[in-house]
Amino acid sequence: MSYDKNNIFAKILRGEIPCKKVCEDEYSLAFQDINPQAPVHILVIPKGEYRSLQEFTTNANDHEIASFMRIVSQVANDFDIVKSGYRILANNGEDANQEVPHFHVHVLGGKNLGRMIENTKG
Ligand code: 5GP
Repeated sequence: MSYDKNNIFAKILRGEIPCKKVCEDEYSLAFQDINPQAPVHILVIPKGEYRSLQEFTTNANDHEIASFMRIVSQVANDFDIVKSGYRILANNGEDANQEVPHFHVHVLGGKNLGRMIENTKG
């Protein structure tokens, strides 16, 4: 299977669907999640066409990878959640129930997020 150019994040990157942009640089974009699970819930995506962390780390260049991590960190700074704490999370593939097949990291914070995985049985 190849990258689906019609996935929602690809449409956001092309400006076909609006998003509440938080910050961006040449290689990465951060925007508000449409269905926030915490007071702060930001998605960070690379602008290149990568479905997974594996594709990203294999095919992206060092500038793209550095940009991505810097934007994740900047989001935490900008939303003032560094001191209180926050979680970064990437759903990758079927067992993680990844919905959107464009690699992304969730940045969550602004409240106590509980334990990492509540439902581990089964
Ligand atoms: P996943 O399960 O793939 O890790 O998460 C996908 C995330 O994308 C979900 O948290 C969902 O709320 C968010 N999302 C889905 N569609 C849209 C959209 O059109 N705009 C924005 N901003 N977020 C979206």
